Amino acid sequence: MSKFWNPLIKQLEPYVPGEQLDDPAIIKLNTNENPFPPSPKVLEAIQEESVKLQLYPSPSVDELREEIASYYSLKKEQVFVGNGSDEVLAFSFMTFFEPGKTIKYPDITYSFYPAFAKLYQLDVEEVPLGDDFSLPVEAFFQSEGGVIFPNPNAPSSLYVKMGAIEEILKNNPDQVVIIDEAYVDFAEASAVSLIDSYPNLLVVQTLSKSRSLAGLRVGLALGHPDLIEGLTRAKDSFNSYTMDRLAIVGAMEAFKDTAYFEKTKQEIITVREYFRQELEKRNFYVLPSQTNFVLASPADIEAEKLFTQLKQEGFLIRYFNQPKLENYVRISIGTKEQMNKLLDAIDKII
Ligand code: PMP
Repeated sequence: MSKFWNPLIKQLEPYVPGEQLDDPAIIKLNTNENPFPPSPKVLEAIQEESVKLQLYPSPSVDELREEIASYYSLKKEQVFVGNGSDEVLAFSFMTFFEPGKTIKYPDITYSFYPAFAKLYQLDVEEVPLGDDFSLPVEAFFQSEGGVIFPNPNAPSSLYVKMGAIEEILKNNPDQVVIIDEAYVDFAEASAVSLIDSYPNLLVVQTLSKSRSLAGLRVGLALGHPDLIEGLTRAKDSFNSYTMDRLAIVGAMEAFKDTAYFEKTKQEIITVREYFRQELEKRNFYVLPSQTNFVLASPADIEAEKLFTQLKQEGFLIRYFNQPKLENYVRISIGTKEQMNKLLDAIDKII
């Protein structure tokens, strides 16, 4: 560590990404990517736009915000966009949470929340999930500084009903409640429908999962125009051209091509349910996922051993060496063919 670094930076722990192996023979089911390529229309739009790369992109990103607004029947003033939802979440922490006022998030949740909290010097109450990974809804009432959690949660894959989200919103009238909907397209319903009723609700989404664009880095936030104005103020004060031209046009096409989106999303849900049943036949306990991954606990082998042995067989899945998760593995949903190959490998191991 350098003497030149700000002490705050010394305290940060860089993200250790899921392994990225370039060997095409490896079946990679460890970072919840989509097994299908992006819509061909996205690729065409990016190709066309590439001849304009000598020009700065639009700082207001109006066209994309209009497109997303019309998709969700909102107004452009209710839409903020950025480079992946990680960046949108960073802006959201910066804009709505303040030091000295304790924020709440679950103890098992997306690993970047503690990192943002540290970076912005926030006080945090980590609310323990139930033994079944359920979200204790009332524990999120009356927060001092705001609330954030994913719905569905990660890595639990569990979904919280809209009624519970409304209770949390009603019981935090003066704080912002951020619902991170990275996986929502694989779930029952989105909190977007609550935006017009709750000025304290910010919904964050990504194009990395259900729209096959993890490599393009596009995320968005939806909420009351006042919240969006705050985010825009934070962004424009030091980083106005956040989105590049290729990402803007690619994201627009991803929202326009609803047929491709619906087809690939439905296929992933179908394969998820098939895979869940197959794991259950093999004595796994599988949480009822509403995401594009499952959290599962094998009865006949230690989870870590399964993870290691699958790696030797050419399959990457995720093992979290942390309390409550020691007996579980997280497996992203790939194509049916990939999941069948994984099941064959599991059969060889257990
Ligand atoms: N939120 C959650 C809950 C996630 O799991 C992820 C991705 N792993 C993200 C946000 C960030 O996604 P991205 O930056 O690719 O939009």
